[in-house]
Amino acid sequence: MRCLALDIGGTKIAAAIVKEGKIVHRQQIATPQEDAAEALHQAIAQLLTDYDEQFDYVAVASTGIINQGILTALNPKNLGGLAEFPLKASIARHTNKPIGLLNDVQAAAYAEYQLQDQQRLANFAFITVSTGVGGGIILNHQLLTGTNGIAGHIGHTVADPNGPLCGCGRRGCVESMAAGRAIEAGTSEWDSPCSPKEVFERFRKNDEKATALIARSAKAIANLVADLKISMDIQKVVIGGSVGLAEGYLPLVQQFLNQMPPIYRCDIELAQLGQDAGLVGAAYWVNHSLPNIME
Ligand SMILES: [Zn+2]
Repeated sequence: MRCLALDIGGTKIAAAIVKEGKIVHRQQIATPQEDAAEALHQAIAQLLTDYDEQFDYVAVASTGIINQGILTALNPKNLGGLAEFPLKASIARHTNKPIGLLNDVQAAAYAEYQLQDQQRLANFAFITVSTGVGGGIILNHQLLTGTNGIAGHIGHTVADPNGPLCGCGRRGCVESMAAGRAIEAGTSEWDSPCSPKEVFERFRKNDEKATALIARSAKAIANLVADLKISMDIQKVVIGGSVGLAEGYLPLVQQFLNQMPPIYRCDIELAQLGQDAGLVGAAYWVNHSLPNIME
């Protein structure tokens, strides 16, 4: 089965043919910002034309929440002119092949799960700690997408009820404490505010203030791992994203996890897939879900 996979992000759209997890004919365009909805309809039309006759089904990984084929988000303002964009309908104008859609982090979680010992791991989670904090959960070997597409938005569980206001409108979400954006915001009152990358450089030189910010992030993620373990008996958590993969971060999460009672701990490791996890994961998931989609 050949898949036309699309990964729609806030700044770029990747497209490729994926066959048995291998990517060919990859291309990338900028996500339209001006007159965004009309421009995205046109971009989708062009991509479907480019890959005409080369695929058996379409799989889409997208930023935000895909609810009944329509693009939305916890904070729809983040989507600009693409809020409520009818993603599935836009693609269906140009093909009568099956179309499946899911959130991009859900897709990445599914891709990472393909690399694991699935016999042994029935319950698995992926956390990306990047500009924001996203997640995907596999329970009893199945990816949770949720009736409304929301399942896995674990970055918006609470780390500290008195913490900073999160972009979603709730106070003290994991994202508001742990994300790259939160680390950067934490430097705003420093003599020279800096990027998360610089905070990590200072952290590795044992700078006290930088270490406090990175530790606040790692502690929130360790608590999130513990919550996943105790609520769903998650056996392993894979951590990715620019913050998650930064040198020295995972050992710190492990250190905080080790301070908890053993029943709250599970295996944690670094994500293996890079920028194409969304494309590959969407292709696998839609393929495995095709009997349901065809109904
Ligand atoms: Zn939030």
